Amino acid sequence: MMLKIKNLSFSYKTKKGNNLVFDDLNIDFMPGFNVILGPNGSGKSTMLKSIFGLLSYKGEICFGGNEITKISSDEKAKLISYLPQMDIETSSLTVMEMVLLGRLPELTRRIKKKDLNIVNKTMNSLNISHLATRPFNELSGGQKKIVFIAQTLVREPKIILLDEPVNSLDLQKQLELCSLLRQIIDEKGINIIVVLHDINLACRFAHHIIILDSEGKLYSYGKPKEVVNKKMLEEVYGVVASVSYDENEIPSISAIRSVNRAVGK
Ligand code: ADP
Ligand code: MG
Repeated sequence: MMLKIKNLSFSYKTKKGNNLVFDDLNIDFMPGFNVILGPNGSGKSTMLKSIFGLLSYKGEICFGGNEITKISSDEKAKLISYLPQMDIETSSLTVMEMVLLGRLPELTRRIKKKDLNIVNKTMNSLNISHLATRPFNELSGGQKKIVFIAQTLVREPKIILLDEPVNSLDLQKQLELCSLLRQIIDEKGINIIVVLHDINLACRFAHHIIILDSEGKLYSYGKPKEVVNKKMLEEVYGVVASVSYDENEIPSISAIRSVNRAVGK
């Protein structure tokens, strides 16, 4: 077990009243590459925010026996890094500076050789070294996204939380990013919890998949082949789909139609 969510309840307070997202949710995250899947509004982003300690929830989220909200912010910066679901457009820093910022908790008064090494290595593995001296605000949306991802990775925390990191990346970069994440997990023992929309990409790379249903309830948690099937796709996503398995039992899906008959009529 890596991270434990115990009796988690959370509501957003809005002008129209409370918007309940989680009601007594329990999950024991296993080490490795965890992917959170679920339809829009099921609470995926809210779950990452809770884990990063940004929300005042009821219940407990524990890492190594410590409640996340009780860990000091300095300690937390070393423990967890978090890439929110976002598209920030403006910054006059260069790409190199943006990525280097990820080492900020580690930077004392001067940039050390070690920091530069980690930054260079990460930029190499994400294929953005050639962009190093370019102003950040001149990059394409996808390139910006990779810079933010690099910033998250150079912190070398114990847990990395990524909210839809591959959106706006082309197919090749999606695969490269997911391979790099697997490599980081294998080489450095870092744990990753990532929200993805692409079920096939999740199946290819995840060790474990968490399925949240539209009510924010845990529908299932397990290996890709254990959780991705026709029944889940129908009950959670409301789609009729075919599912096939490759020689390693990795599922891949092809969505056929919505179960909602009104759609398209
Ligand atoms: P997901 O990331 O799975 O699409 P979210 O975690 O963003 O879902 O949202 C879960 C639910 O909480 C949705 O019903 C959404 O409308 C609501 N919600 C999200 N953020 C806020 C907010 N800041 N204030 C009020 N309601 C919110
Ligand atoms: Mg979200």
